Amino acid sequence: MALNMVDCGPKTGLFFNCPIMLILSISEEKKMTIPARGSTVDVPAPAIDPGVGMEALYARLADVIPRAEWDLHLPVIAAISALKRERRAIILSHNYQTPEIFHTVSDLTGDSLALAREAAAVDADVIVVCGVHFMAETAKLLNPEKTVLIPDPEAGCSLASSITPEDVGRLRRQYPGAPVVTYVNTSAAVKAESDICCTSANAVEVVESLDADRVIFLPDEFLGKYVAARTDKELILWKGHCEVHEKFTAAELRRYRQQYPGVYILAHPECPPEVLAESDFTGSTADMIREVGRRRPEQVFLATEISMSRNLAAEFPEIRFIHPCYACPHMQRITLPGILECLRSMRHAVEVDPLVSERARRAVERMLELGPREKR
Ligand code: SF4
Repeated sequence: MALNMVDCGPKTGLFFNCPIMLILSISEEKKMTIPARGSTVDVPAPAIDPGVGMEALYARLADVIPRAEWDLHLPVIAAISALKRERRAIILSHNYQTPEIFHTVSDLTGDSLALAREAAAVDADVIVVCGVHFMAETAKLLNPEKTVLIPDPEAGCSLASSITPEDVGRLRRQYPGAPVVTYVNTSAAVKAESDICCTSANAVEVVESLDADRVIFLPDEFLGKYVAARTDKELILWKGHCEVHEKFTAAELRRYRQQYPGVYILAHPECPPEVLAESDFTGSTADMIREVGRRRPEQVFLATEISMSRNLAAEFPEIRFIHPCYACPHMQRITLPGILECLRSMRHAVEVDPLVSERARRAVERMLELGPREKR
């Protein structure tokens, strides 16, 4: 294993299908106003009969969503559900979406790639991606004929914004002949300059699949180091970081162990190496979910975005989750009122330049041809 560091410029599984079981009716005569980001949205006022479906759903979520908050969410959830049917839309939600989105209006949940792959097989006219912009772009790459919407186009990602297509071109000139692997957390324009994409679940397999001794691996430095420790190939890395996972420290994990003896700590490979060394298990979001389901520890700490911890807590009520305190500010831009407004206005359609799209899709498809390991 060998590492080469390159300085960059300024930084900046499908696991649960949760079809909502709403029992409600919509009164077209009545109107209600729901606050959205910077505006209000007038929608038909739903006459909600919470019914068995919603009450049963809330029983699962009561520990992660206060009742008063849930009551405020109900009319928005109802209005979104009505508009989904009207638009023939499907909602894809990333594992890091908040519980009131993840467990209610979402048709498919998982990581960006799993969502996009599943969406390709779905009979819908519109795909709403509840996640960040690169995820919506990936969904568009794999579903060019469908309308792909993102509720907030400003939902970015510190990893995706850490590198440009020009940076990739410079690295290619610096390391001639070295293939370029890019994490899916990149823009379509950067994917287009790559040979193949990877996810955190299949990064080692993707690197190992290449017929080269030296590989340019972009842009996550910590994921790159994790991969480099598991391959004999020389990796050229970039100093891109996830602004959420880079916050975790080994000292913090040790403090959790002191306070919660026996706690089982799982960490995402976007965390710094010393955090991974301090954890009991390292893996992608799907790997972590599978491990929690398989092992069923009494107490769990997930070194990853807080919403995933809350979503899992609703799924495994018998496990005590000690929630991390780091939220992704980009993921948090997606809200129920934002989803409603997006479906109502059909604004924020994601488009990718056809020339970029063709090359970026090829990089994603090369990864998909390696098999289903990346599904998480
Ligand atoms: S959690 Fe990190 S990698 Fe994921 S979208 Fe937020 S900044 Fe990007």
